[in-house]
Amino acid sequence: VFQPSANIARLKESATLAVAAKARALKAAGHAIIDLGAGEPDFDTPAFIREAAEAAVEAGATRYTATEGILPLREAIAADANRLLAHGAQITAAEIVVSNGSKQSLYNACVCCFGPGDEVLIPTPAWTSYFEMVELARAVSVPVYGDEANDLKVTSAQLAAAATPRTKGLMLNSPSNPTGAVYTRDELTAILDLAAEKGWWVLADEIYLRIAYEGGAQSALEVAKTRDNLIVINGVAKAYAMTGWRIGWTIAPVAVSKAMTAFQSHTTSNAAAVSQHAALAALERQSEANAAVNYMVKEFRQRRDAVVAALAKFPTIRYVHPAGAFYVYINVAGFRGAADAGAAFAAAVLEEHQVAVVPGSAFLTPDWIRASYATTESVAVEGVTRIARCLTGT
Ligand code: PLP
Repeated sequence: VFQPSANIARLKESATLAVAAKARALKAAGHAIIDLGAGEPDFDTPAFIREAAEAAVEAGATRYTATEGILPLREAIAADANRLLAHGAQITAAEIVVSNGSKQSLYNACVCCFGPGDEVLIPTPAWTSYFEMVELARAVSVPVYGDEANDLKVTSAQLAAAATPRTKGLMLNSPSNPTGAVYTRDELTAILDLAAEKGWWVLADEIYLRIAYEGGAQSALEVAKTRDNLIVINGVAKAYAMTGWRIGWTIAPVAVSKAMTAFQSHTTSNAAAVSQHAALAALERQSEANAAVNYMVKEFRQRRDAVVAALAKFPTIRYVHPAGAFYVYINVAGFRGAADAGAAFAAAVLEEHQVAVVPGSAFLTPDWIRASYATTESVAVEGVTRIARCLTGT
């Protein structure tokens, strides 16, 4: 009989995946489901990237590479990041480790920087996997809840209040999954200054950085006065519609990068060679890449505007202003008197209105649900309208 080891005894199945499974089962049974559960762009990877990958395979990119990734890719990542950098020495390839998606990058960073007894502050609501990754590193995840009046973002004062002598670091995610909120330059500066003063690691997950609407989102690289305690995580999945290619990376001090490379060398080795070449094309061929990204962001913005306009017809509904990523986070507190209002709402809206959403409990905020607009505008608008009807009973 399988007895889960102590390593995974507390591991929970991903709630986002549970919803997806239920929606799939309903679809298979012939129901027309409006799926607002997706966490990935609905676009195809741009053609020039796909073609570069095909050419790379033909040219022999079929073998192991260096664990930390091919040098041209790490140089391209460094060059790309240096365009944002405001303070300090230029970023070099020695500070970059390429992994199998930014998810692995985050996990590498958690395992290498945090360990037993360490506490890690997680601005909440936050992406499910942060909590699990911190726990898998045998550290303690400490949710720090943001105020609704501040779009559920946390302030440096809230982080300071949640800290103890065991606090070792914090996670930052702007634009945020699940809320779509974007931290302002001042908010980021205050948090990074606090972390530098306290000597905390900052794991800045910037996977949605380029998907931001009002004036864009700031990178930690643009405001951090020091990179000594900063690990920036990014990748190609969301901005370039490359979720399946599995390429992410860290920008971290050299000593941390070396430790993460050693760790990765014993777990997965290098990310797929062909995918590294695809990512290289995305980063090197700037004008084509920018055209593709700008097109997708423009589309997301139109859908965002349409979704907000649809919700505005129901003035009692509260939601976080979606300033980035492709999610809208809607308050469903009190729904039919349920203790977990988000889960009750997600079940009801799926069964009664055929709309799949993710319950906020997946992000440690059970009074909310996440709806993704990474789908066509008409589907997104129909979906949020049904959500609004279900919520208001109209
Ligand atoms: N970080 C956040 C906040 C995400 O939402 C996701 C994907 O859903 C990831 C990281 C992982 O992205 P990747 O596909 O690069 O592993």
